[in-house]
Amino acid sequence: MPHRSQELARIEAATDAAIRLAADHIRRGDLVAFPTETVYGLGADATRGEAVAAIYEAKGRPSFNPLIAHVAGVDMAATLVDFDPLSRHLAETFWPGPLTLVLPARPDCPVSSLATAGLDTLAVRMPAHRVALDLIVAAGVPIVAPSANVSGHVSPTSAAHVYGDLSRRIPLILDGGRTEVGLESTILQVQGGIPYLLRPGGLAREEIEAAAGLTVVRSEGDPSAAPVAPGMLASHYAPRARVRLDVHRVEPGEALLAFGGAPVRGVGEAARVLNLSPSGNLREAAANLFDMLRRVDGDDISGIAVAPIPANGLGEAIRDRLTRAAAPRDRNGFGS
Ligand code: AMP
Ligand code: MG
Repeated sequence: MPHRSQELARIEAATDAAIRLAADHIRRGDLVAFPTETVYGLGADATRGEAVAAIYEAKGRPSFNPLIAHVAGVDMAATLVDFDPLSRHLAETFWPGPLTLVLPARPDCPVSSLATAGLDTLAVRMPAHRVALDLIVAAGVPIVAPSANVSGHVSPTSAAHVYGDLSRRIPLILDGGRTEVGLESTILQVQGGIPYLLRPGGLAREEIEAAAGLTVVRSEGDPSAAPVAPGMLASHYAPRARVRLDVHRVEPGEALLAFGGAPVRGVGEAARVLNLSPSGNLREAAANLFDMLRRVDGDDISGIAVAPIPANGLGEAIRDRLTRAAAPRDRNGFGS
């Protein structure tokens, strides 16, 4: 798919002029790689679904993980999420720094549902790096940023690493030298006053326990795979209704998630119809995926029928997510 971010990347030393240039890129929906204290991030405007989709496209990620929204402070975070008192205390104690907090998204949270993988929660963090903070302030929006490497490669700790991986896929890399930590952030979620460790990382559990005056509970196994309490650790929104893929004929009472202009039989009897991308654009479909899954879902339908979606490019991740949504449910009601 032709897109202007597919020109060769430029590496710019992170001067004030370069920050302004990078902020312009972010605001118009392009990707910018930038340093944080952990690793280089591949950043996009968190509020623009198609910009978020471009991250997955550039990384070649075969699935949509929820991303971390980077903010310039607690006040900015509070425009996106609701802080409980303990989370606020931890943010005030450890930010800026390698602590990510998973918090309930505010009803008016402008972050794209692709960035949260359709969850009601959002992961937020204030990075301890001048360049990252200047970029967020100049762009004026939260920036989602997974590590700036091709999926499966090691995380980049220098601008040259990013260039080696992504030069043909993004327009701009801000060079802030080598990153200090090289370890990802610690991810924590407070539930009912109890701090749960979703991922160990750059901030030690002991430091969190000392600040909280509480024991940090380690969640079992891979946080994205095994919810220990309903709704707590699922890494994706799971629809209530049964999902059928590659459908050419809708059954009466089913809702239809269409794609492109290909005709689907029985559409007149569908309970609801939404089109992920009428023009058949996979980036647009990715941006709409979780939001539309929620909008077609409901107790009043017999299932969700999904029209055929190609398996190339972002289609692979879209199909992966829909396949999980279609999988048999475990007792928690989440896809296995
Ligand atoms: P990173 O690879 O550093 O970009 O971190 C992204 C990881 O943060 C994801 O793979 C999830 O494990 C975690 N994460 C992000 N958002 C959430 C959320 N809303 N709930 C739980 N975990 C999350
Ligand atoms: Mg990585």
